[in-house]
Amino acid sequence: MDLKIAALQDLVLRSRCVVAFTGAGISTESGVPDFRSPGSPWMRNKPIAFEAFLKSGEARNEAWRRKFAMDDLYRDAQPNRGHRALASMVATGKMTAVVTQNIDGLHQASGIPDDRIVELHGNGTYARCLSCGERHELDEVRPIFEATGEAPLCALCGGIVKPATISFGQAMPEEPMRRAQALARTCDLMLVLGSSLVVYPAAAIPVLAKGHGARLVIVNREPTGLDAIADLVINGEIGPISPFLGPHRECRGDPVPLSSIFSGFPRA
Ligand code: NAD
Repeated sequence: MDLKIAALQDLVLRSRCVVAFTGAGISTESGVPDFRSPGSPWMRNKPIAFEAFLKSGEARNEAWRRKFAMDDLYRDAQPNRGHRALASMVATGKMTAVVTQNIDGLHQASGIPDDRIVELHGNGTYARCLSCGERHELDEVRPIFEATGEAPLCALCGGIVKPATISFGQAMPEEPMRRAQALARTCDLMLVLGSSLVVYPAAAIPVLAKGHGARLVIVNREPTGLDAIADLVINGEIGPISPFLGPHRECRGDPVPLSSIFSGFPRA
């Protein structure tokens, strides 16, 4: 393990544009269970697919009921050592951005600016209208849901309001996907933390990075779907490994500006 940690530190030190790719495993130390490990509460019920959410008021109510029940379990989750290590790498310019499959908002809570986080599966800390895109806060939705048993419709357009996460069967958000792809094409090191790497199209991002010449490092408790193409695989807990990721007071050159990666994108 010591040799692997040394190899990790060396790769990080020699890289100028590190991009993290995180999954549910980075948040387990915060008390939020991952998706596939045994006993996962996320697997207890059959997921409600996007089409069912659109078509059936009953499915929507059930989705909201489950959502608030899960929120109650994990509302006090705070960023952990893994989140903080990445925040430190972003703050020093060593890490360009974090691409995450997570929906828990813990990367933002660790202090990483919004424009350095790309959320592939949305964010469960707020909701959006599916028709006009208006953001709705859960604190507004919940009392209405609890009083009526139904989530409110959008006050602006009357559209269906849904947690701002990507459901099974729902199209991936275009702009985050394009941003993640741009980051994958331009990074020189992709650091995967806590993902089984079996959920596609998200897992195609590390494949793309590798295909464009980046080194690929995977830190995960157990084997993943992409170990075969990785330059370094560390099977271990993210928390104890995190201190070895930084701090990086000296970067090689200036931090890579996002404008050079996202040129031509509608907003920074
Ligand atoms: P996953 O559950 O498929 O894989 C997580 C991996 O992390 C597992 O292989 C597990 O062994 C590993 N792991 C767990 N704790 C770890 C630790 N402390 N250190 C090292 N490894 C650890 O999750 P995924 O690949 O992210 O895909 C699941 C999907 O479910 C994602 O799309 C995600 O949006 C969603 N999800 C998100 C959250 C969250 O936001 N926190 C939680 C559950 C599910």
